[in-house]
Amino acid sequence: MRLAGIDLGSRAIKVVVVRADGGILEQRSADTTFDPLRQCQELLDGLRFDRIQATGYGRHLFRDVYEKACIVSEILAHARGAIAAEPRVRAVLDIGGQDTKAIALDPAGKVLKFEMNDRCAAGTGKFLEVMARAFGLSVHDFGPFAEAAHRPCKISSMCTVFAESEATSLMARGEPPMNIAFGLHLAVAARSVAMLRRVTACGPVAFTGGVARNSCIRRLLEDALEGQLLIAAEPQFIGALGAALLLRG
Ligand code: ADP
Repeated sequence: MRLAGIDLGSRAIKVVVVRADGGILEQRSADTTFDPLRQCQELLDGLRFDRIQATGYGRHLFRDVYEKACIVSEILAHARGAIAAEPRVRAVLDIGGQDTKAIALDPAGKVLKFEMNDRCAAGTGKFLEVMARAFGLSVHDFGPFAEAAHRPCKISSMCTVFAESEATSLMARGEPPMNIAFGLHLAVAARSVAMLRRVTACGPVAFTGGVARNSCIRRLLEDALEGQLLIAAEPQFIGALGAALLLRG
């Protein structure tokens, strides 16, 4: 039995195929465009699987077309995927393209409490993308750039629009760009830690989603959580992995 999970996110579509024992057979991804269903078709082309489950904000759209597909919330998918990647996990912090989730788990991996910010881009991957662009950088280079800072500038607004103008004003005042970038990263990390505290997460935290690839955010969270952060080799696939594994029942 081959089980597939597909995570239709705002920035990327991710697919994972697992064996019945949970071992990963294949994973693929593509950036989300204005025609996500065509992209799904292309990603699934040539993949062998018996059942498929969709998660992510585009899951309902997917099921409208792939009628036999199951769907599951991102909260459950990330929780399941994180536990599979590291059984010691007691909480999940998922920072994706347009939302952030903090999820507290019990020792059996059951969701105890969660909080989700999906109303605006504040503190999400989109926020970092917009800021990186203001510095003329790609999101891939933004973390290492900020890590070269000597001291962070204080950023008081988390609203993407206001924070961008705050960064631009600081640049105009001659603040070193790296320090401003570091301040922006600190603001995202602080907001995420506050979310984890509100769901009363305790124990090891799995950091999932594309932003877990940002080295500066990773380092700031590692410091704030005092070594309790666990990151899979490819954290952006955890939701799709969880969706596939949840088909096992
Ligand atoms: P979604 O599920 O909403 O599509 P993802 O979990 O795929 O979101 O995360 C997308 C975000 O991850 C992007 O907005 C970007 O900020 C960040 N990201 C993706 N790749 C990288 C990378 N190589 N380095 C740093 N950040 C990255």
